[in-house]
Amino acid sequence: MASRGAAAGGSGRSARFHDWFRAGHVKRPAMNSLMSRFTRLLMLALVLATTAWQPALAQDDDDSGPSALRDSETELLFKDIAGPLAKAGGLDPNSVRVVLLNDPEINAFVATGQTVYVQSGLIQAADNVNELQGVIAHELGHVSGGDAIRSASGAKEATGITIATMVLGALAIAAGAGGDAGMGIMAAGQQAATGKFLAFSRATESSADQFAVRALGGAGVSGKGFLDFFKKLQNQEYRLAIYATDSYGRTHPLSSERVQALQQALQKDPAWSKPTDPQLEARFQRVKAKLIGFIDPKHAVQKYPESDQSIPAHYARAYAYHLGGYPDKAESEADALLAKDPHDPFFLELKGQILLEGGKPKDAIAPLREATQRSGNMPLIAAMLGHALVATEDSKNFAEAKQVLKAAVNRDNENPFAWYQLGIIYDREGDQARASLASAERFSLEGNPRQAMQSARTAIAGIKPGTPDCLRAQDIVMAARGELANKKNKRSDDDDRQQGLFGVKSGGKGADKFSQGDLVCRGA
Ligand SMILES: [Zn+2]
Repeated sequence: MASRGAAAGGSGRSARFHDWFRAGHVKRPAMNSLMSRFTRLLMLALVLATTAWQPALAQDDDDSGPSALRDSETELLFKDIAGPLAKAGGLDPNSVRVVLLNDPEINAFVATGQTVYVQSGLIQAADNVNELQGVIAHELGHVSGGDAIRSASGAKEATGITIATMVLGALAIAAGAGGDAGMGIMAAGQQAATGKFLAFSRATESSADQFAVRALGGAGVSGKGFLDFFKKLQNQEYRLAIYATDSYGRTHPLSSERVQALQQALQKDPAWSKPTDPQLEARFQRVKAKLIGFIDPKHAVQKYPESDQSIPAHYARAYAYHLGGYPDKAESEADALLAKDPHDPFFLELKGQILLEGGKPKDAIAPLREATQRSGNMPLIAAMLGHALVATEDSKNFAEAKQVLKAAVNRDNENPFAWYQLGIIYDREGDQARASLASAERFSLEGNPRQAMQSARTAIAGIKPGTPDCLRAQDIVMAARGELANKKNKRSDDDDRQQGLFGVKSGGKGADKFSQGDLVCRGA
C-alpha cells in the first residue's frame, strides 16, 4: 500500500482526479496568464472530459496531502450512519459531519470540532456497513470527549499544530476542487498532532470505545462490525499497512486488552445480535463500489468483472470505464443501472455526469434535472445541472443555470466549482463585479487567500455600498488577510507553533499591505 507521501504526490490518478466525483475535468488555468480570467474560464468550461484536473495552487503547495472527496450519495450515507449514533451518544446529529478523504491508508480521525474524517482506504477495507458504523461510533467518541481540542498541558502543543493549520485548511476542507492545498496543510498538522497524541492516547481510546458501546447500543446497532474490524486489523494481512504509516492501528493502538474489554461490553448489549438494516448495507456496497471505481479503476474492473451484474458491479465499472476513457461502455453501465431503477437520483446523476463529461452537455440536462428534483435538490447534483446548462453555451439555458447554481451555493458553500460556473454566467451578463465576487468565493474555498483577496477587492470597486454582496466581499478580504498573516506567522517560526494557533495578530508581520480604503464599496 502506498505511503501517504506517495499518495499525496499527485502521481496517481486518485490525486489528479480528486474532483472527478463531483464535477468535470477542467484544466486549471495558469494563474499569471495575461488572458482575462473569465475569458479563460469560459474557454475552459468547454474543455470537457479530455484533460486532467491539475492540482491547484502550485505556488502555495508545500505538501499536497489527501483531498476531500465529495459525492452526494456518499455524504448522505455517512449522515444516515452518523446521525443515529450521535443522537444515541448525546451529540447533536445536525452538528456532526463525516468527511471522506482520498487517502489509501486505513484510517479515520477527528482533527478539531465535530468533523470525523474517514479515509478512502478504510472504506475499502471495511467489508460491510456495520464495520463502518463501529468506526464512526468510536470517532464520535473522540468528538464527544473533545479529545482533539483538549487543553491539558500534554495536548497543548499537539492541538496547537492542528488548529493552526486548520485555520488555513478550514475553508478548503471538503471543497473538492482545489482542496489539495488546504487539506495538505491540515493533514500535515494532523499528522504532527497525532504523533503527540499517541503518548497519552490509551485513556482517550478507552473512553471513545465506551462512547461507541453506548452509541451503538442506544441506536440499536450491533457492535459485531466494530469488533470484526479491529480483529481484522490485528491480522497479519493488514499489519504492514498499519504499522508502516499513520493508519488506524497506529493512531488507535490495538492491545488485546482493549479488544477483550470491547468484546465483553459489546456482547452484553441486546443490539449485539441485531441484524444490519439491509437497505443501509446495500447503500454501503454501492458507495464502496463507486469509490473503488473512482480511485482504482484497474482494480475495479478485476474486482467487479463483467459477469457480475449486481448494482455495485455496474456502479464500479461505470466509474472505472468513464475514468479510463471508455465513454460508451460507461454509458451502457449507467443504462444497466437505470434499467434496474429508472428514477434513482444517483443513477441519473451518474448518467448525466458521463454525458456531460463526455462532451454531451445537452443530453446531460434531462437526467441531471430529474436527479436534482428527485434528490430534493441536493446541492452537488444541482451544481452539476448548472454546469451542464452553462456548458451548452446556449444563452437560453443561462437563467435556469443561474437560479440552480445560486440555490446550490446557498445550501452548500463548499463547492468552488459551482462558484466558478456562476462566475461564468455573471461574466456573460456583463456583471464584472459579481463575476469577481464569485471568483473570490471560489479562491477562498480553494484555500487561495491571495487570489481571493484580489478578486474581492476588484468586486468591491464595483459593488453598491451597504448591500449584502458588499458585506460579503469585505468579509472575504478580511478573512483572506487573516489567513495570509497566519500562514506567514506559522512559516516564519516553526518552533513556535502555538502562536499561529491563537489567531492572527492583526497587522502582524505576515499581513499584506492593506488600507481601509480597500474595503469601501464603490459601485453605483
Ligand atoms: Zn480513537
